[in-house]
Amino acid sequence: MRVFDEIILVPGGGNCYLIEREQECVLIDTGMSKKASKLIKTINSNFPYKPLEAIILTHSHQDHRAGLETLRKLYEPSVIAHEEESPYIEKTKELPSLGGFGGFMIKKLEGMLGIPASKIDQKVVDNEVVYGLQVMHLPGHTPGTIALFDIENQALFCGDIINADKKGKKILPPKKDYALDYKQALKSSLRMLDKTSPSVILPGHGSPILEPEEAIKAYLDEYGKV
Ligand SMILES: [Zn+2]
Repeated sequence: MRVFDEIILVPGGGNCYLIEREQECVLIDTGMSKKASKLIKTINSNFPYKPLEAIILTHSHQDHRAGLETLRKLYEPSVIAHEEESPYIEKTKELPSLGGFGGFMIKKLEGMLGIPASKIDQKVVDNEVVYGLQVMHLPGHTPGTIALFDIENQALFCGDIINADKKGKKILPPKKDYALDYKQALKSSLRMLDKTSPSVILPGHGSPILEPEEAIKAYLDEYGKV
């Protein structure tokens, strides 16, 4: 699904987004392992002459990065993540345990899927701009979670910082079960929406919010006083 002329949503599991730039294309998140074939098909049919130059990971959770190595072998892109999230992807550090159901699921998945360590080629920090995308460091869901704000078209790629409903009308708060620090995650989500006026919100789960103005106002009204 084309969200904008230059952005393609590849849905299912975790949402992935392909961004077309003048000379190349860039992928945000890779989804689960089995999604790689769907992504390869989408890349090859839409961008046959534009190499996949970079993969940017919003964070280290499996449903956002499990397919990374399959894509890396094929396209040899530069892999980018926040400097605080990189050790969990390179597996030089273990992601702090969540506890509860979310923690159980994340641990179980990691063991079951046997996801290998992945080298991060470029470690970014807050406010850095990569491929026309401004990095916003918004910890809470994980320590190095980022959102990416497309400077040219004002699209906001927000990973799991917030969620969206299936109709793409409502912004939902970060999932309590999967947030390492829920209070911080909620604060980060408010900061993200307060700091930007996105033309479209592109979440890691749920449907894109194509007319976000009302949804942002409602979210800030409901959660802004926390
Ligand atoms: Zn997540």
